Amino acid sequence: MEGEGEGAAIGIDLGTTYSCVAVWLSQHDRVEIITNDQGNRTTPSYVAFTDTERLIGEAAANQAPMNPINTVFDVKRLIGRRFDDVFVQNDIELWPFKVIAGTGNKPMIIVEYKGEEKQFAAEEISSMVLSKMREIAEEYLGHKVKKAVVTVPAYFNDAQRQSTKDAGLIAGLNVMRIINEPTAAAIAYDLEKNAGSAVENNVLIFDLGGGTFDISVLAIKEGKLEVKAIAGDTHLGGEDFDNRLVNHLIREFKRKHKKDISGSPRAIRRLRTSCERAKRTLSSMAQTTIGIDCLYEGVDFYSILTRARFEELNTDLFTKCLDLVENCLKDAKMDKNSIHDVVLVGGSTRIPKVQRLLQDFFNGKELCKSINPDEAVAYGAAVQAAKLSGMGNKKVKDMVIVDVTPLSLGVETRGEHMTIVIPRNTSIPTKMDENFHTGEDNQRSMDILVYQGERTRSKDNNLLGRFKFFGIPPAPKGEPVSICFEIDVNGILTVSAVHKMTGKKSEITISTDGHSLSQQEIERMLQDAEKYKSEDQQFKQKVQARNALEDYAYDMRKSINSGKIGSKLSTVDKMRIEDAIKQKNEWLDDNQLADADELLHEKKELEIICDAIISNIRLE
Ligand code: ADP
Ligand code: MG
Repeated sequence: MEGEGEGAAIGIDLGTTYSCVAVWLSQHDRVEIITNDQGNRTTPSYVAFTDTERLIGEAAANQAPMNPINTVFDVKRLIGRRFDDVFVQNDIELWPFKVIAGTGNKPMIIVEYKGEEKQFAAEEISSMVLSKMREIAEEYLGHKVKKAVVTVPAYFNDAQRQSTKDAGLIAGLNVMRIINEPTAAAIAYDLEKNAGSAVENNVLIFDLGGGTFDISVLAIKEGKLEVKAIAGDTHLGGEDFDNRLVNHLIREFKRKHKKDISGSPRAIRRLRTSCERAKRTLSSMAQTTIGIDCLYEGVDFYSILTRARFEELNTDLFTKCLDLVENCLKDAKMDKNSIHDVVLVGGSTRIPKVQRLLQDFFNGKELCKSINPDEAVAYGAAVQAAKLSGMGNKKVKDMVIVDVTPLSLGVETRGEHMTIVIPRNTSIPTKMDENFHTGEDNQRSMDILVYQGERTRSKDNNLLGRFKFFGIPPAPKGEPVSICFEIDVNGILTVSAVHKMTGKKSEITISTDGHSLSQQEIERMLQDAEKYKSEDQQFKQKVQARNALEDYAYDMRKSINSGKIGSKLSTVDKMRIEDAIKQKNEWLDDNQLADADELLHEKKELEIICDAIISNIRLE
């Protein structure tokens, strides 16, 4: 069936804390949010490594308190960033897993897997989460999935987008498009709520998740979604609110018990889990208690948290959200009174204070809570995936989505000045040229440093890449070179330089600046991913084979001691079977590492012995 055949493309919301996968079902003319093996509609973005196996999603998150240093989460906070980034440094302080500086200043995550130390790039861990989401979809659809639309925060820069795309490649997915999370949510909003309204509506999407914050202002009319401006912070969300609580309680523990728990990953992990739960409770209750037995050096910890305290600890972060809303409206050249609907997306928009501040900002306007804040992004991504594969109904096919670039792009000119070529909030895809001139007589080459950001000093912005252009013939200073910036539909930039008179040209796709992956690295990671996948498979088969042998032995023991078979067997035969079972159980104890083949062989042996004895009694 269309949309569910081999070609089905899925939408994946790859979140900092939770991920969600959805697909367009043509048969039902709607999007389905796909539940995971635990029946949940979102899956923790967690990957864990143990002595025996790799775990992804629920299973990884569940064992986190027992195995904190090998349980990796929050990689979205690392992706596309450098090790020496201040945010990365601050996060490392709080994470129980280890992160070191790799080549090109790229952060590498260190874990122990099957007794060996392993290093992973953020892209690899993200690819594991993507693979899991893909498997969830494959399980549901009953066939392989190869194509996906993956979402990123609107405020992700070029490096972060490129790295997310690489993560998709490593997961063996054809990433049809990278789309902005608030834009995806706007698609869901339009289909569910606005339903192709003929009047133009200005909509503000307020997306506050676990790790990132995005705002997007759109004008929507008759299925045309035009993003006017975006703003945000790629390091602001629920985890930051949790951190405030964690730090508060670390101080309280110190005060009460004169002990510093901050050096114990296990204690911090347990505290963080309790804080996150308390935070959620405080969205519906005015007060909650935190109680953790034996938190540190045998000391139990109890504390009362009030909603007021939680709000106070996070006041500056909440205010920051509102400031960004104001900036975004300014960029969109819109007054707050011209916004028709304020749409809440992301788990952290359940915080009452956030809702209150936002409502006050919009002079008491009712906020739109009718689209699911946890699922809207994956929903929109699934619609985009259907659209790109020529599926979906008329409304989906006719939908037009125009997004913008979040940050200004430019080159460094004399005096470390950032000269902007493409201003932020320009509609994409786009292509813009700018002429630059040589600064010296007979200058033969030009250094081109490409930056992204809003600061006037180039060095204060994010260096995306650099290249040297060699095409200039000898001439007096002031010889023009045209630099062309091109942003594709994924928001990824290519820069080229051309000397117009001679037609000489050179080009780079940005993000080749050390911290992003080379083609060879991606290839290698792809192979590793296959290897890990087959190891997971082997482990699964092993567990199944072990269970099968144990179950068979258990059932056999039960049947020889009861019912029809039990009554017909002689005591000697029963003893022979008991003996065989005992032997196999001992073998299981002694061979913990046995592989699936060996286990199946042992089971077969036991079956032969038991069958021979049991079939005899039937013949008699
Ligand atoms: P992301 O997409 O960044 O992973 P989500 O949109 O899934 O984030 O939101 C997850 C965040 O929302 C977590 O930090 C979680 O603690 C927070 N959250 C979920 N429910 C609530 C609630 N009821 N009150 C406060 N925060 C919540
Ligand atoms: Mg999200």
